[in-house]
Amino acid sequence: ASGCTLLRDPRYNKGLAFTEKERDAHYLRGLLPPAILSQELQEKRMMHNLRQYEVPLHRYTALMDLQERNERLFYKLLIDNVEELLPIVYTPTVGEACQKYGSIFRRPQGLYVSLKDKGKILEVLKNWSEKNIQVIVVTDGERILGLGDLGCQGMGIPVGKLSLYTALGGVRPSACLPITIDVGTNNEKLLNDEFYIGLRHKRATGKEYAELLDEFMHAVKQNYGEKVLIQFEDFANHNAFDLLEKYSSSHLVFNDDIQGTASVVLAGLLASLKLVGGNLADHTFLFLGAGEAGTGIAELIALEVSKQTKAPLEETRKKIWLVDSKGLIVSSRMESLQPFKKPWAHEHEPVKGLLDAVKAIKPTVLIGSSGVGKTFTKEVVEAMSSLNEKPLILALSNPTSQSECTAEEAYTWSKGRAIFASGSPFDPVEFEGKVHVPGQANNAYIFPGFGLGLIISGAIRVRDEMLLAACKYIYIYIYIYDNVDLTSLCLGKKHKNIYLCFDAAEALAAQVTQENYDKGLIYPPFTNIRKISANIAANVAAKAYELGLATNLPRPKDLVKCAESCMYSPVYRSYL
Ligand code: NAP
Ligand code: MN
Repeated sequence: ASGCTLLRDPRYNKGLAFTEKERDAHYLRGLLPPAILSQELQEKRMMHNLRQYEVPLHRYTALMDLQERNERLFYKLLIDNVEELLPIVYTPTVGEACQKYGSIFRRPQGLYVSLKDKGKILEVLKNWSEKNIQVIVVTDGERILGLGDLGCQGMGIPVGKLSLYTALGGVRPSACLPITIDVGTNNEKLLNDEFYIGLRHKRATGKEYAELLDEFMHAVKQNYGEKVLIQFEDFANHNAFDLLEKYSSSHLVFNDDIQGTASVVLAGLLASLKLVGGNLADHTFLFLGAGEAGTGIAELIALEVSKQTKAPLEETRKKIWLVDSKGLIVSSRMESLQPFKKPWAHEHEPVKGLLDAVKAIKPTVLIGSSGVGKTFTKEVVEAMSSLNEKPLILALSNPTSQSECTAEEAYTWSKGRAIFASGSPFDPVEFEGKVHVPGQANNAYIFPGFGLGLIISGAIRVRDEMLLAACKYIYIYIYIYDNVDLTSLCLGKKHKNIYLCFDAAEALAAQVTQENYDKGLIYPPFTNIRKISANIAANVAAKAYELGLATNLPRPKDLVKCAESCMYSPVYRSYL
């Protein structure tokens, strides 16, 4: 290839890092200034430049430009500076980027499948230059974070999620495919925005919608085979549950809003038991928001308690209560409830507001998953604090503007007693001389490793047990992360049973530094995320083999090693 082609292809371009010999061999002489910079120096310069931008959205566009220009440098930055850059490529900044996607749009970063392509979706897929795809993240843009319907501009979400599949889970960038399905939007503001990039009409629903999605699902399987992972992302709940149900027996599908969230939140809850005491079964849960996140988390908690106590699921669900926009979900509302809410309609008189629900249910754990900000008011947090010595409060709604309360509010209103985690990141808070560190219940702890586990085992279906396997690993990791070599502890030569790891973690408790727990932190830092991901992947893969759903045979002996060796490295390759 000519030098110009090399410089223009983000997969191969190394900018000033091309060596003298490479410049000779690939006709690059004169196309670059004479200096030769190492990748490390390029990284340093880029981080320096990024930090100059005060406006987060400018950092976002600068990062996207880098991804378009020099892919390996982009991933090197993301991997080495994950704590700093995650809030940009993901919540909260990605939310703002989607809202303004029309005006910041430069180049397509994924595939757009619209109603116009009906009957031709297979052709659309074939237009994408990469043939070997392992993970697709697809949205229809109807429920982007807590920001609602952003139509075609939801593309920022699949793009961002897949960059995390690569950076945190080590899936090759070329094996990742972001897709937005455009069936219209009901967002008036976008319909009237001259820069809007999508179809300018109301959303298609019913048969028209179902047929387009069905064509899409079939085309994907036909083009990429049975082992491609299709992650549904930010669909509205009236479609999300149905799609997951409809395709889970014929495709490898995963809904991160329902299943990934459940897994990461359960991990945080298990970890927080160390701070509040008791077993999961001793707790009473109240959710504000009974959609994908809320009912998904609720179901995984009930499943875990049922496994621990051997009580039937119908029993363990009874200590979990949910409030939706019409009030507490109770049995008298049964008739009018959407199917995914019905299991949660327990006997109780009707209750309208959240505060009254807190007083009536007396929860030990309060979880916000409504997408509506500022709903954990002072009164609500005070009520939780009067009921509990250490109230556990999770404000999961994203982005930051939709958070149920801020970290500072949670700590101040509870007089420093709350254990708090949130969906979008908050800085540590000092209250009466003590520093509290809020955890971030970030799905990025789970889904990259989860996907990698499916890939290395060649899994063809997803099962709930795999989610529990992923979640348990995070919990263990939170618990012991800075003291122990996890690989040797959790997945030693013979042993593959995650419950043994559990025991090991319990046994280690006494020897572990309490430092992070003392600050109230229930999630680990992201610095070791690739190691976490490799171990999650190994656990998920082990489950896939155990359940007979793995097709990559024979089963590798050491799954952690296997996961690690499959991981993409962003270090430049030599072109000589
Ligand atoms: P969803 O399926 O649309 O569910 C939203 C739920 O909130 C619905 O049950 C809705 O009630 C209820 N609701 C809306 N307004 C309300 C109000 N004023 N009072 C009480 N309930 C209200 O959305 P989702 O997928 O669950 O996501 C919800 C939020 O969680 C989003 O902000 C999302 O970003 C966040 N989230 C966070 C994480 C994380 O932290 N890791 C993961 C996933 C999602 P009706 O059913 O009556 O309409
Ligand atoms: Mn999502």
